[in-house]
Amino acid sequence: MTQHTEITCLHEQHSTDGSIKFLWQLADGKTVESIYFTFREQYYTCISSQVGCNVGCPFCETGKQRVLRNLTAQELYAQVALIDGCVRAAGGPAMLDHVALAGMGEPLLNVAAVVAAATQLRADGLTETVSLSTSGVVPRIYDLAQTTETSVNKLFLSLHATTDKVRNHLVPLNKKYPLASVLEAATHFFARSGEKVTATYLLFADLNDTQADLARLLRLLDPAIYIVQFSEWNQVADCAFQPSPRLEYFQDQLQQAGYEVFIQRSKGGDIDGGCGQLRSRTLPVIPAAARPTAISTMRARDEEH
Ligand code: SF4
Repeated sequence: MTQHTEITCLHEQHSTDGSIKFLWQLADGKTVESIYFTFREQYYTCISSQVGCNVGCPFCETGKQRVLRNLTAQELYAQVALIDGCVRAAGGPAMLDHVALAGMGEPLLNVAAVVAAATQLRADGLTETVSLSTSGVVPRIYDLAQTTETSVNKLFLSLHATTDKVRNHLVPLNKKYPLASVLEAATHFFARSGEKVTATYLLFADLNDTQADLARLLRLLDPAIYIVQFSEWNQVADCAFQPSPRLEYFQDQLQQAGYEVFIQRSKGGDIDGGCGQLRSRTLPVIPAAARPTAISTMRARDEEH
C-alpha cells in the first residue's frame, strides 16, 4: 500500500489490456477511483474531481451516487503524483502524456481546485496536457478559457445528443445550460486556447443514432473547431440503454465530411474501470426506484447551483 499525506492507495486492479485502476482513500475516509491507460500511443491517467456527482447522467455509474464533497487541489495532484510514481516504478513512461479530469464528478463544479491542481501539475512537469471533460457548466467554461496557457489546456465536451430534448434526458444539466449555449462556450474556449475542442458522443440505439442525428451533428459542429470522439459505452446496472451498432458508420460519415474523428474503445472494462464505471466504494448507490427522474433532478439542481 502506498502512503501519501493526502490520500492512500487502498487497492490497485490490473486489466488484461494494461490499464490500472486505483482505489484511493481520502483523509476523511471517503474513497474515489482513478485509472491509468494507454490510448492512441499516449499515456493517460484519468482522475476524479468529486466524491460522487450530482449531474446524474443516467448512463454513468458515478451519477448514481450523490456528491459528498469536492476534492481539494492537493488530493487532485496526489492522484497523479502517486500514479506517476507507480507506473514509473513498473518501467512505464518518464512522463504522463495526458492527465484527464474525466473520472468521478463534474470538474467544473470544483473549478478552483481543478485549476490550481492543473497549474501545479504542469509547472512541476508531471504532464504537458491537462484536459477536462464537462457536461457543460457554461459560465465555468468561460472562466476556464482565461487560464489555458498555464492550467487546463484541452476541453472535452460531453455532447451525447443533437437536440435539447434528448440531451435533457442524457445530460440533465442541459435543462439549465442548453445545447446552443454550451456550444457557444466551447467555441469560445477554442478561440482562446487555439486547441480544438473534443465533442464526445456515446451512441445509443434508437435514441441518438438516427440519420437525423447525423445530419444535425454535421450542422452543429464545425470541423475547424471540433474533434469528434465516439466512445464505446460500458454497460452499467439499472440502465436500459443499448449501445448502437452504428459506431463505425457514424465515424465513416464524419471522416468523409472532413472531421477528425475517432472511436475510443473501452479500456479497463474487465476491472470496471471504463468510461462511466468509476464510483466511490464507500458511498451508497441510490436505488433505481428512489432516483429522481431527469427532470425532477434538474429542478433540485437548479436550486443548488
Ligand atoms: S458522466 Fe460525468 S457529469 Fe455525468 S454523472 Fe457521470 S461523472 Fe457526473
